[in-house]
Amino acid sequence: MRYLLLVLFCFFLVPVTAQETYKEKKPVNQELVYEGKDFYPVKIYPQKFKSKKPKNVILMIGDGMGLAHVFAGYTANGGNLFLNNFRQMGYAKTQSSNKFITDSAAGGTALACGVKTYNSAVGVDSNGEPQASILEEAEKKGLSTGLVSTSAITHATPASFIAHEGARFTYEAIAADFLDTDVDVFIGGGLKHFSQRQDGRDLTGELKAKGYQVLQNMQEIAAVKSGKLAGLTAPEHNVRYPERGDMLPVSTETAIRILSNNKKGFFLMVEGSMIDWGGHQNSLPYIVEEMLDFDRTIGKALEFAAQDGETLVIVTADHETGGLAITGGNTQTGMVQARFVSTDHTGVMVPVFAFGPGADQFTGILDNTDIQKNMKKLLIR
Ligand code: MG
Ligand code: ZN
Repeated sequence: MRYLLLVLFCFFLVPVTAQETYKEKKPVNQELVYEGKDFYPVKIYPQKFKSKKPKNVILMIGDGMGLAHVFAGYTANGGNLFLNNFRQMGYAKTQSSNKFITDSAAGGTALACGVKTYNSAVGVDSNGEPQASILEEAEKKGLSTGLVSTSAITHATPASFIAHEGARFTYEAIAADFLDTDVDVFIGGGLKHFSQRQDGRDLTGELKAKGYQVLQNMQEIAAVKSGKLAGLTAPEHNVRYPERGDMLPVSTETAIRILSNNKKGFFLMVEGSMIDWGGHQNSLPYIVEEMLDFDRTIGKALEFAAQDGETLVIVTADHETGGLAITGGNTQTGMVQARFVSTDHTGVMVPVFAFGPGADQFTGILDNTDIQKNMKKLLIR
């Protein structure tokens, strides 16, 4: 019987990994240990805001980031996170229109468009009808807009804010959707979906013709101060932290610098894409490293928001991944012990953290779609 299960398991494993290598399955429910490394310093900012409603919104999505992922990071950095700045918290339910357990496409679409849709849908409702995202609404009102991710920028989470496709794996169609918008800045992987396409189109050339600076080198990207920017830093996904260095915090700082030139305001979505991938792989160090990279990126958003006084920063997740439980730890050494009960997403509510004008709209038990609706009420005026 056990053999039969193993054979069946392998049978289903092959097509899945062929599509998404980060979902490689490993045995679950073993206790895993993160030994602890040097801590980084965290700054706590004053909370004095200039307005009741925000001029700018920065939405930060930790893909697969449940409360245990946050607490693993908290323990690993000696009890300090930039997240400690947040005073307004809530929980978001993540169920999609057709599944109790959502995927990142339906989860992303709920956060981007404020509608429940079916798993794999990107920027369309459960009937397949395109839905305007908060990014597109902001653009229409003359605000500047941006997307930053460590995964391919065409992957489900960022794609939900800009594309309208019935199936998340149609990456080339999603890349073409970027050309139908006036998004000001996007930085992530996914170059090959723009430049090595079945249809022979070279979208990098088309982006240049639309006035974008199309750059692949992080140092060049970090030097951009204004104008339109398409930063495509990897053929597909960027490598995991620490190999990719400060790609995420530097890209976020760069996007904020460019977008904040607009006096009317901006909307920026930043994704820590690979917290989810550590969960799928049941790798505690992978989760901790990605979680801490995401937290340092949150620090960059807070640094701007605290000084600007008119910026709302929201941190949340699309779903939990791994069924992670913290079974031990030491905030003196940064050691974390944990177990996973799943190599997939789970159905539990995810945390919502808000900082800045309007932050009180994100407390209590929310639906993931409420986050979009409340952002829209505050930002699109
Ligand atoms: Mg994602
Ligand atoms: Zn996932």
